[in-house]
Amino acid sequence: GESIPVDGEIIEGGASVDESALTGESIPVDKKAGDFVSAATVNKSGYIKCRAKRVGEDTTLSQIIKTVSEASASKAPIARLADRVSGVFVPFVIAVAVITFVAWMIAGEDLGFSVSRAVSVLVISCPCALGLATPVAIMVASTKGAKNSILFKNAASLENAGKTKIAVFDKTGTITNGNPKVTDIISFDGFDKNELLKIAFSLEAKSSHPLANAIAERAENEKLEAYEVTDFEELAGNGVQAFYNGKRLIGSNLKYMSTQISVSQEMTEKAHALSNQGKTPVFFSFDGRPAGIIALADTIKPDSAQAIKELKKMGIYVVMLTGDNEKTANAVAAQAGVDEVIAGVMPDEKEKTVKAFMQKGKVAMVGDGINDAPALTRADVGIAIGAGTDIAIDSADVVLMKSRLADVPAAIKH
Ligand code: ADP
Ligand code: MG
Repeated sequence: GESIPVDGEIIEGGASVDESALTGESIPVDKKAGDFVSAATVNKSGYIKCRAKRVGEDTTLSQIIKTVSEASASKAPIARLADRVSGVFVPFVIAVAVITFVAWMIAGEDLGFSVSRAVSVLVISCPCALGLATPVAIMVASTKGAKNSILFKNAASLENAGKTKIAVFDKTGTITNGNPKVTDIISFDGFDKNELLKIAFSLEAKSSHPLANAIAERAENEKLEAYEVTDFEELAGNGVQAFYNGKRLIGSNLKYMSTQISVSQEMTEKAHALSNQGKTPVFFSFDGRPAGIIALADTIKPDSAQAIKELKKMGIYVVMLTGDNEKTANAVAAQAGVDEVIAGVMPDEKEKTVKAFMQKGKVAMVGDGINDAPALTRADVGIAIGAGTDIAIDSADVVLMKSRLADVPAAIKH
């Protein structure tokens, strides 16, 4: 989910890279050591180490930007002719409008009548006056938004935001702080706690997910060293995997883990107990054997409940849409006070759910993660949390720079 900062050559690892920003091609390209990557393209799933080749103004992206801005700054010959014509036309039309006004006043009509005749002259001879009024309104609105740390990327989102009927929120990192802490470390037969944490660390050190950051932080505090894993892959909405000496390591939710290895009744019950406390259990396996569960708890943002209440007061239907399991989702939803909870959804299902809601009215989707990107693009208004992943910010129409949920009702209202 991170965008690549400079042009470079991959020296280690592999990733599937979305190059649509440069090429327009939406299907990600698989890259491995020796291949070249460009600035502004997005790493969709893997982990790569690159050697910078071109930075700053030399990158392909900067070259394109330079060409485009030169092209738009230069004037076409016809535009120069238009300038010459309007140099005479505009003062002439204004003069005619003034004469019209004065003539009607002299003829004894009242002020309103005379003004409206003068304005008619302007509109008929120069309908662009109307066309100019809209951009000005848009400019004022987006400036006002920017002052309040709400960035509107386009005019359509500004217009659609005001018509929102349904607001869909992601959970982790959006309603919650996205700053979870490890609460329980439960290792299974044949593994001790340190081994479990080491396996987890090796995987999560390469991920940018909020859960991953928390696990990596915990392992670093315990001064553990990660294994040198290869072929790291981010399974959006499910977890992560990588290989160590040819053995597969997985860190994921219960749903995905049960499709990969056999999960005992006892482990499932442990996970349910943790979920009921509002914690998120993450399962880890090593070479097909379950290694244990690491549970994490996240707190909801201080203004989440208030913001959701305000949206409901505005007559907006509020939905929480999360990739996390149902029990954890319900525990968080109760604190946040949403109208409906949809849990355990994959990124493409998030997109489909948003599409289904769009049948009923304008939908605003608020999210932060890699898994939210498709839904953010689909929604009438995609709103990204400023602290979220690059890909979410890229996919959205509106960015909340302060990452506060209180800015969602603000963006819709003003
Ligand atoms: P949300 O939709 O609430 O933002 P995500 O879709 O990002 O949540 O994550 C859904 C679930 O997938 C998580 O609850 C977790 O179980 C699992 N998951 C995702 N990424 C990781 C990761 N890096 N490590 C472990 N588990 C992960
Ligand atoms: Mg999220």
